[in-house]
Amino acid sequence: MGDNLVRSISKEAGVRVIVAVTTDATREAIQRHETTPTATVALGRALTAAALLGATLRVQHRVALKFDGNGPLGKLITESDSYGRIRGYVQYPKTEVERDEFGRIHVPAALGTGQLIVVKDMKLADLVEGIVTLQASDIGSDFQHYLTRSEQIPSVVQLDTLLDDEGNILMSGGILIQSVGDMNEIIVADMAERLEEMPPITQLLQNGRDPDEIIDTLFGETKHEILETRNVDFVCGCSRARSEKALISLGPDELASLIEEGQAIIDCHFCHAQFIFTKADLEELLANAY
Ligand SMILES: [Zn+2]
Repeated sequence: MGDNLVRSISKEAGVRVIVAVTTDATREAIQRHETTPTATVALGRALTAAALLGATLRVQHRVALKFDGNGPLGKLITESDSYGRIRGYVQYPKTEVERDEFGRIHVPAALGTGQLIVVKDMKLADLVEGIVTLQASDIGSDFQHYLTRSEQIPSVVQLDTLLDDEGNILMSGGILIQSVGDMNEIIVADMAERLEEMPPITQLLQNGRDPDEIIDTLFGETKHEILETRNVDFVCGCSRARSEKALISLGPDELASLIEEGQAIIDCHFCHAQFIFTKADLEELLANAY
């Protein structure tokens, strides 16, 4: 079974629960970016945050999360649409930092302090942007803080990417519990407590539990319904046509100097696809574009 995402709601509790499995998508991302274990965990968590946030969007809307810290990882950028298509990259994928006092991968030391900037394309005249200060810089707390502070929706988040001793991904996933209006605070407090007491999602997945079962466990006795199960995939929207547009947007002078250099290679940040434009390709662009 590939990655998926399950959305559920309880009218009685006034909350929705979304559970995302992002193991394969994260594995694909880290193969493309050749990340170290620390960068893998950071990217896995941030991809999962994008998947969860994407699941709250309306059709055709998109979201980008930019974790902009002053640590050695540099910027960490992930994106999602409302169809479970995610992509992402980290500026310095070879970053490695010392483990924390418990021997765990130390994402906060790698990310540092800074901001989380979330940009939503909701098909309006302008993009909608929210900015919060990074809290614990562990990705999960920062994402939760963004939802609660910037979107002003009480939310509980868990993001987890589990590696083996060699740094390979075993499981990656996340849980979002979020108010949908008239929230029953007692029920939600119970759910948050249950989440706290449960093993992390990656361990539950390792033990063969699926997202539906995790949702049932979180809700306990509270009546709820599963709204939808959808696939999650690593998909990049880059293409040769988009690269052409990017080259054209540089302007005729810049294009002319690329022609002088002999070729142009556009390397996609998100997936490392390369689009090579020969001298002849560039001359054709210059002749037709302006
Ligand atoms: Zn790409």
